[in-house]
Amino acid sequence: MSFDTLGLPEPLLRALATAGYAVPTDVQAAAIPAALAGRDLRVSSRTGSGKTASFMLPALARVLAARAAAAAASPTGRGSRPPRNGSPRVLVLAPTRELAQQVARAAQDYGRHVPHLTVATVVGGVPYGLQQRMLGATPDIVVATPGRLLDHLGARVTRLDAVELLVLDEADRMLDLGFIDDLRTIAAATPAARQTVMFSATFDGHAGHLAAELLRQPERIDVAHHTEAHADIEQRLHWADDRRHQQALLEHILAAREIEQALVFTSTQIDAERVAAHLAEIGHEVEALHGGLPQGRRNRVLQAMRNRRLRVLVATDVAARGLDVPTISHVINLGLPMKAEDYVHRIGRTGRAGRTGLAVTLAERRDFGQLQRIQHFTTQRIPASVVPGLEPQRAEPRPAPAHAAPAARKGRPGPAAHRGGPGRPRGHGQAPGAGHGGPRRGPGPQARTGPGPQARAGDRGR
Ligand code: AMP
Repeated sequence: MSFDTLGLPEPLLRALATAGYAVPTDVQAAAIPAALAGRDLRVSSRTGSGKTASFMLPALARVLAARAAAAAASPTGRGSRPPRNGSPRVLVLAPTRELAQQVARAAQDYGRHVPHLTVATVVGGVPYGLQQRMLGATPDIVVATPGRLLDHLGARVTRLDAVELLVLDEADRMLDLGFIDDLRTIAAATPAARQTVMFSATFDGHAGHLAAELLRQPERIDVAHHTEAHADIEQRLHWADDRRHQQALLEHILAAREIEQALVFTSTQIDAERVAAHLAEIGHEVEALHGGLPQGRRNRVLQAMRNRRLRVLVATDVAARGLDVPTISHVINLGLPMKAEDYVHRIGRTGRAGRTGLAVTLAERRDFGQLQRIQHFTTQRIPASVVPGLEPQRAEPRPAPAHAAPAARKGRPGPAAHRGGPGRPRGHGQAPGAGHGGPRRGPGPQARTGPGPQARAGDRGR
């Protein structure tokens, strides 16, 4: 199949040819014709599947149609941008600043032949002034994180009553971040007759309820379930005895020549700073990225990654979604994310755009329970391997045998589940963005804890 058969207007086909896309991905083939026909869509597709183009191309087709209508109505036949009332035509909501910026970049790329296209990115962490000016000029497309958009709506800097297409990208993540009320408020400010397209890894629970609220007789598109193997991503697991062993494994992996660029995930902002500082000390071109950094710095770090001025990026889950750098050849997890689906998003940062990638998890025994939950979620086993010379001294953890005596099962829920399980309070005493003062010493128990509520809030898109 080629893009020509999907019903896209010629200027968009030209942009796709420039981008070098010959064949639509599965989600594009399914979603584009339905979206062009004006249908509401409920799409689950895996990360890296080309979902951005699947909604952005139909969005740009709307802008082109409006340009053509304005030209037909103008006496000269050359009318450019029709006058607007302060409301964009297309609104895309995304959970994180990084994803919003990525989507806005895609809009500019795919819309390079749309006359006078204007795209505003509205995210937190940057001054209001520029965004106010952009919104004041009535852009065609607004890509926003919900919190900041609500601020502008409240200040009457923008309105949404002429939105024709509302896109919720990674809706499950927005709900996880607590944006449910913001999403409802924003949707209520758009016309009821709009077209709505919602992307989510899952439509269970809250995401399903929100879909039922916002979508009208949606077409359901489920192109790849999270259990589907990431054929382009090799997954590997190394057991580490302790943090020093984990560090040694990390250094060994990063020393490999075949690494083009590596993305190392940590659980906390403090750990991201600590690990990045250590890697810099031993000579790596490395930066940390997390929600505790000012937005300008985050942008510069991402740009350095895209320009390949950085070989290693150490990040929290703020980089787990949306980061699209095809030259990331390795993803390394220092420990496991709290949510199983975040593992899928993390490893999806490699093996993109037709390339292959390696995703290595460096787990300690305390991660065992979480590892099992992730394997259950993906229905795939992550094969364990060892680095010669850096073999773990302790035996590989195993689940408690099913036939164990009930008392023993009760007392010992597996080698690590009682320590690393979700019930354990995480992140005590850690302030977001702390740890800038240099590397911490010693693998104290706190050092392994996850992001507390504050640290998570620091990674929100407001
Ligand atoms: P996304 O899932 O939207 O983040 O896209 C993942 C990556 O695939 C991005 O680098 C896109 O530029 C790339 N991509 C999207 N559609 C296509 C296509 N039809 N052919 C080749 N690459 C694509």
